[in-house]
Amino acid sequence: MDGVRLIKPYVDYNSVVEDFQRVFERGVFTQGPYAKQFAKNLSWYVGAKHTFLTTSATTALSVCLKLLNIKPGDEVAISDFSFPATANVVEDLGARPVFVDVSPSTFNMCVDDLLSKLTPKTKAVIFVDSFGNPTGQYDVKAVCEQHSLPLIEDAACAIGSLYNGNRCGNLSDLTCFSFHPRKLLCTGEGGAITTNNDDWAGWLDAKLAHGARKSSTGSLDFSSFGFNFRMSELQAVMGLTQLKNLNEIILHRQQVRDLYSKMLTPLGFRQQAVSTNCSHNVQSIVFKVPDYVNRDQLIEQLQRKGIETTIGTYCQSGLPYYKAKYQSVQKNAFFLQNNTITLPCFQDVPWKMVCEQIKRLI
Ligand SMILES: *Cc1c(COP(=O)(O)O)cnc(C)c1O
Repeated sequence: MDGVRLIKPYVDYNSVVEDFQRVFERGVFTQGPYAKQFAKNLSWYVGAKHTFLTTSATTALSVCLKLLNIKPGDEVAISDFSFPATANVVEDLGARPVFVDVSPSTFNMCVDDLLSKLTPKTKAVIFVDSFGNPTGQYDVKAVCEQHSLPLIEDAACAIGSLYNGNRCGNLSDLTCFSFHPRKLLCTGEGGAITTNNDDWAGWLDAKLAHGARKSSTGSLDFSSFGFNFRMSELQAVMGLTQLKNLNEIILHRQQVRDLYSKMLTPLGFRQQAVSTNCSHNVQSIVFKVPDYVNRDQLIEQLQRKGIETTIGTYCQSGLPYYKAKYQSVQKNAFFLQNNTITLPCFQDVPWKMVCEQIKRLI
């Protein structure tokens, strides 16, 4: 027996094989019609004016910070409870990631803490949709507007989530998605940037293609320098195919989350709180474990039963590098790092068996 894995990507070989064949026949492996169509469909799906496909959410975030001209000495306020890529992209530019603590119920950036940490050096804010949950995004957006700060949304997990009926990707100044296998839409590696800002779109268009613009004669005009963070054509086939089923996948995951919740809430497990005006895509099903449960022990015992689970995510300010350098470990993020568990979720996940094992073990 294979055991129960945490996640299985929703991509099926038979659904892509014909398009893969077409890519090979055509011999166009990058910047071809599939990449164009995937970007176009993503724009339509999230309701954004512009979409740029990238190699990952990390490169997407990195490029957005470069677009905003973040330099050494600048500060970027970020949600502390996140995958370390959120802090790393800031650190990489020599700027300072300012760790903003999160709400212990929604796991998202706490506005009061953000306000207390803004300084004249703050140049941007990165809000993380924790496990795809956009709750609180509007409050952070309001603060950014008041202080004329650009808002980047680390929506690595949030494809398909909604806030007041608007999809993530159409809420912030710049939104970054991930298509890593742990997310709902999987292209192997991959990501995207969405924005409604035409000037920024022009900049991104050139910078993501080595800094070149096509001149009227069709030759490349290298008036600036640039990078290459482009997604390949085969990856775009995968993304394009899965986007068609995304809403169905999200509905299923929401049902599984509710089933887990029904069985685990009476045992004292607490689900991530989602505001009623938001729809959560349930990229991960994360619970706070009850006080009487040792989280690490539970993960280990479930592993021995063949059930793969993991921690929620990281308190970035408490990771060895950031702790030593900035000495500003955030209380709630640290608590959540040590007291949350992610449960298996995919098509046909045996949620009942997982819950029964948890019940037996604790
Ligand atoms: C997964 C994740 C990333 C990194 O995404 P990649 O596409 O693997 O670079 C960044 N931020 C958050 C919140 C994530 O969950």
